[in-house]
Amino acid sequence: MTDVTRGTSAPEMVLVRYGELALKGKNRSSFEHALVRNLRAAAAPVSKVRIDVWRGRIAVFPERRVHEVAERLRDVFGVVTVSPAWGVAPEAEAIATLAREVLHETLARTPGEHALGFRVRARRSDKRFPLISTELDRYVAERVLPGTQRLTVRLDDPELELGIEVHEKRAYVFLERLPGPGGLPVGTLGRVMCLISGGIDSPVAAWLSMKRGARVSFVTYHSYPYIGEASKRKVVELVQRLARYQPQCRLYVVPFTEIQTTIRDSAPEPYRTVLYRRFMQRLASRLAVRERCKALVTGESLGQVASQTLENITCIQAAAELPVLRPLISYDKEETIALARRIGTFDVSVLPEPDCCTVFMPRRPMIHGKLEVCEEAEAQLDVQGLVERALAGVERIDVVAED
Ligand code: ATP
Ligand code: MG
Repeated sequence: MTDVTRGTSAPEMVLVRYGELALKGKNRSSFEHALVRNLRAAAAPVSKVRIDVWRGRIAVFPERRVHEVAERLRDVFGVVTVSPAWGVAPEAEAIATLAREVLHETLARTPGEHALGFRVRARRSDKRFPLISTELDRYVAERVLPGTQRLTVRLDDPELELGIEVHEKRAYVFLERLPGPGGLPVGTLGRVMCLISGGIDSPVAAWLSMKRGARVSFVTYHSYPYIGEASKRKVVELVQRLARYQPQCRLYVVPFTEIQTTIRDSAPEPYRTVLYRRFMQRLASRLAVRERCKALVTGESLGQVASQTLENITCIQAAAELPVLRPLISYDKEETIALARRIGTFDVSVLPEPDCCTVFMPRRPMIHGKLEVCEEAEAQLDVQGLVERALAGVERIDVVAED
């Protein structure tokens, strides 16, 4: 199959390198299994793939659109770098000819005058290959360098490295090493439930949890008709963006109107926001159990808004039945925004749609809330009934990665 995205000949496969962290003993094979499963899922919207695990790296063979598959694989947590690679018979002369083609095509695509330090680096898994690695390095270098004025051999820290992998039935040649996101494969560290609003922070908190190997489910609270359908669609769109990193994402949409109007009508006004948040924690804890999640995740950051003081976080946390993870606790807003841009959620987050927290906002929110006051206020409410009725109205949306 030809690939029209670049050059005349298409690469044949993608070499994937992954981190060695947490790769001891039994962990190693479960890590590799999860990574293989996630690589396959990430490629699926573009192409079916065959996957081989080689020592310390993974070989992905797409049926088609190899460059696009390589781009998808760059979003998979656990991946350190990827290299689209061209294949050839495992013979020195054929390897050198291919290497020359690949190199010249790449140089033609990257015009410039300055000299580039260059080296060849071969690896053999087939030890019967007649040349040892360093001999093959030299053999290929001698055949690719003539006619390329821009390259000078530099064995230490070159700007351009031509990689070769020789296997029993086939050899592969590559030039690029495109960075992936690092981290650990999604699913290797258990499940968490992320409270996602339409804001900037919570999608980033979800992404950071995925990066450390957690599988993330989502819950959002929605106060219809005070908040319209467009706000809900915005959250679905955010989850859709995150499905790039975790191809299947489950989102629960919880009706929150009765809880908010009840708090508005019967609780001390400055405590409204903290009390809304306490109900969010209760409901998320219940859904978390359904999804076998072991922790909750929020986008809270210390001191960012009135509800995020240590006192208020303490009041809010007390209503949760599971540990609450806050990946952004020490982030400045600018840092979160930079990350939101990088992961592709920022432009959705800044769409001007209201969030349920903007409904019946207190004029002067309590900054240093007291748990006793929260509990006293809730003693006047039918907490259990409010929770059960909200859960009875939950809508479940399964979001998958887009083609
Ligand atoms: P974000 O940008 O994620 O909205 P924020 O800095 O605006 O965060 P708050 O609005 O105070 O902070 O919310 C704190 C956290 O509470 C959010 O990061 C999110 O995890 C959760 N949260 C707030 N509103 C909602 C909602 N409507 N649905 C689900 N979770 C919510
Ligand atoms: Mg918010």
